[in-house]
Amino acid sequence: MKKIFSLSLLVLIATLMVRGQTSNDNQLNSLFGSKKEIYFKFHIFDKAEVNKLTRIISIDNVTADEVFAYANKSEFEKFSKLGYQVTFLKAPGSMLTDAELMKPAGTRNPSGPAAWDFYPTYQQYVDTMVYFANTYPSLCKLDTIGTSAENRLLLVLEISKDINTDGPKPQFFYTSSMHGDELTGYIGMLHLIEYLLTGYGTNPAVSKLVDSIQIFINPLANPDGTYAGGNNTVNGATRYNSNGVDLNRNYPDPVYGLHPDGNPWQFETVAFMGFASSKGLTMSANFHGGAEVFNYPWDTQPKLTADNSWWVFVGREFADTIHKYGPAGYFTMLDNGISDGYAWYQAIGGRQDYMNYWQHCREVTIELSVNKMPPASQLVSFWNYDYHSYLNYIEQVLYGIQGVVTDTATGLPLKAFVNIANHDIDSSQVYSRMPSGFYDRVIDEGSWSLTFSAPGYYSKTINNVAITHYNATHLNVQLKSLYYGTARLEQGELTIYPSPAKTDVHIVFPETDSKKWKLDVLNTMGVSIFSSEITNSGKLIHVLDVAGFASGMYFVVLSNGNGIYRKQILVSH
Ligand SMILES: [Zn+2]
Repeated sequence: MKKIFSLSLLVLIATLMVRGQTSNDNQLNSLFGSKKEIYFKFHIFDKAEVNKLTRIISIDNVTADEVFAYANKSEFEKFSKLGYQVTFLKAPGSMLTDAELMKPAGTRNPSGPAAWDFYPTYQQYVDTMVYFANTYPSLCKLDTIGTSAENRLLLVLEISKDINTDGPKPQFFYTSSMHGDELTGYIGMLHLIEYLLTGYGTNPAVSKLVDSIQIFINPLANPDGTYAGGNNTVNGATRYNSNGVDLNRNYPDPVYGLHPDGNPWQFETVAFMGFASSKGLTMSANFHGGAEVFNYPWDTQPKLTADNSWWVFVGREFADTIHKYGPAGYFTMLDNGISDGYAWYQAIGGRQDYMNYWQHCREVTIELSVNKMPPASQLVSFWNYDYHSYLNYIEQVLYGIQGVVTDTATGLPLKAFVNIANHDIDSSQVYSRMPSGFYDRVIDEGSWSLTFSAPGYYSKTINNVAITHYNATHLNVQLKSLYYGTARLEQGELTIYPSPAKTDVHIVFPETDSKKWKLDVLNTMGVSIFSSEITNSGKLIHVLDVAGFASGMYFVVLSNGNGIYRKQILVSH
C-alpha cells in the first residue's frame, strides 16, 4: 500500500477543479491533446460511490479514500460533470527512460533464449515466440488467435508433451497485459515459456506439468496498448487499446449483459472469446499490474462463487508462496495478497467474470506489481519472487475430479454436463469436451455428488465422491442412450449464427442431400424445450425463432438416421 502512495510523488503537478458547468470541448481538447487516455486520482467519501463511477471511468485501484482511474475523452466528459476534484497523474507507461526499459541494442542473443531483464521491441517479441516454436517443435506450437485493431498479432503458444493431439488432459491458460501498460506479467510469461521448454526432461516439476496438461500462454494480450509509443519501445504504453477502449471492461458481464461498457466488442475481445470457445479450459489467470493481489471472482457482484473456499485455498497458496520467495511487504495488499474482486472494488465487463460465467473456466485476475512497468533491471527479481506461484497455480489444474464420459453402447466420448448437487450456482458447472469426452472439475476438499447428463442420454448421479487437496479423483462415466437400438453417433458440431442471438438463429444443415431431420433445443440440464421435424430439401439453412426463449445457454441438436450434430448457443434479450 505504501508503494501506491509513493506514486503520488511522481504526480504531475497539474491539479484542477473539474466541474460540469465549466467543462467544455476546449478544456477537454487541451487536457487530452493527442492522448487517447489520461490517468488521475480523486478522493471519495463513501465506497458506495465506486459502483456508480465504475460504469463511467476505468477504475484501476481503490484505497481507503482514493480512487485511481483512467478515462478516454468521452468517459472523462461524463465523469467531469460529477464535480470531483481531480489530480492528474503521469501515465504509468511513460515513467521510465529508454535506458531503464531496454538493454542497449545488440546485447540480446537474437537466436537463443534471453536473459529476461529487458522489455523487448514488438519484433523481438514476435521473433522470440517464433524462436520457441521452431526450437521446440515437439513441445510447443504457436497459434495466432487474431490480430489487434492495428494489425499486431495476438499470439498463443501451446506447450504440451503431445502437442498435436487434443487428448484427455486438462487445458490451462495464462494471459498477460490486456492493460497495455501493466508489463511485469508480459516478461514473466516469456520467462515462464522458456523455463518450461528448457526444463522439460530435466526438472521433474516442469516435466510433470508439461506431460499432464495442455498449457496455453499468451504473454501480450493488448500489443497496440503496449506499443502505443511505436514498435521499438514500450515507452508510451497505454492501458487501453488503440481505439481508446479498456479491454478488461469490454467482455459480456454476468450481471450487466453483453456490452456493459457500451462499446462494440473489440478485435482483441473477439479473438479471446473465440479462442476460449474453441477450447475446454479448466483454469486460467490474467496478469495485471498496479497492485499486488490475487483477485478472484466475482468482480461484478458481491455474491460469492460456488467455489469460494477453493479460490481462497489456491489464492492463499499463490500469495503465501510469493511471501516465501519475495521481499517483506511484497504481494500483501488487501487480505495479505488475496481478495474477492468485488470486495476490493466493483469492475464490470472484465475478462475474469466472462471466463468464469460463460466459459466455465476458473480464471483469476492477478496483479503482480504495484509498479506497472518496473525498471528492466528489476524484472529478474520479480520472476524469482513469482515463478513458484506461477507453477503452483498451473499444478492445481491436475487436482479435483476428472475423467472421461462415454456412451455405454458405443464407447464413444460424449459432451456431457457435469453438475454438483447443492453446490453449483452461477454457471460453476463444467462440461466434458470433445473429441476426448474429458472433463475436469477443480473443487475444494469434501464429499460431492456429481450428476452427468447429455442430450439424448439418461443422466447418472454418483454420490460421495471424495476429494482431498493435491489429489485427483479419477471418475470415468458411461451414459446410456435414451434411444434404444439406435447408435447416437456424434457426427460433429453444427454451424449456427449468431450467438448470442436475440430473435432468429441460422442453423446450417451439415449434410446437403435431402434428409428428414429432428431438431431439438435442450436447456443446460439436457431437457428438450423445443422439438420439430424438418426436411432440408433444397435448403442450406434452417431459421429458428428463439425470441420466445428465456435468455441463457442452450444446446441445439440436429439428428437424422446417421447420428447427431450439436452446438451450444446463447440467447440474450
Ligand atoms: Zn489491469
